Amino acid sequence: MPKELIFALEDETHIQQLIKYNLEANGYHVVTFESGEALLKEYKNTIPDLFILDIMLPGIDGLEVCRQLRSDMRSKNVPIIMLTAKSEEFDKVLGLELGADDYMTKPFSVRELVARVKAIFRRVNSSISTEMDIIKYGDITIDCTRREVYKGEKLLEMPLKEFELLKLLILNKGKVLSRELLLEKIWGFDYYGETRTVDVHVRYLRQKIEDDDSNPQYIETIRGIGYKFNDKESK
Ligand code: CA
Repeated sequence: MPKELIFALEDETHIQQLIKYNLEANGYHVVTFESGEALLKEYKNTIPDLFILDIMLPGIDGLEVCRQLRSDMRSKNVPIIMLTAKSEEFDKVLGLELGADDYMTKPFSVRELVARVKAIFRRVNSSISTEMDIIKYGDITIDCTRREVYKGEKLLEMPLKEFELLKLLILNKGKVLSRELLLEKIWGFDYYGETRTVDVHVRYLRQKIEDDDSNPQYIETIRGIGYKFNDKESK
């Protein structure tokens, strides 16, 4: 079985080695880069299965790398984990907005990073063969096999977490899902308390799937609780 390939961008040598050693001990193949420029050059030849991007770098920063990877058809659906320093709360939110799937705050435990990587691959692999392959609702079509979402004929750019969130909401349409439940299902229990993550992702989903995101027809906010995907069609 081929090993999953991970590109890890980190300029601090000891962290870089720690990431490589521990992920390789868990069966992944890791290629490390010290600069965003080097990574962007290499991925023209090879697309990995996952990117780990540090934000603070000497040249172009990890957010810019993330932006470029997300704007390229070949890498736009490849999961990204961002590494942020504690003081970079702003970068964390920006990273998620740019399409990162997950983030870890430094200093982080390597075991935790390995767990997050495993969780991402579990989700990617499980979305290939489980449940329905095509989900349609209104003018929204979700192709679970290809991990693509269309509004009408238009293919939407959709990072992994947004995709999983939309899928969960649409499969449970008509039911109110609490922020805590969404966090647990999509991000894992270790995100407990960070419910703003859910709100950020819902905001970006609305901008993509709603005709008017200030007057959402698909994803309804249930004040103080969470969100509900409208099942108006079934009434
Ligand atoms: Ca750094």
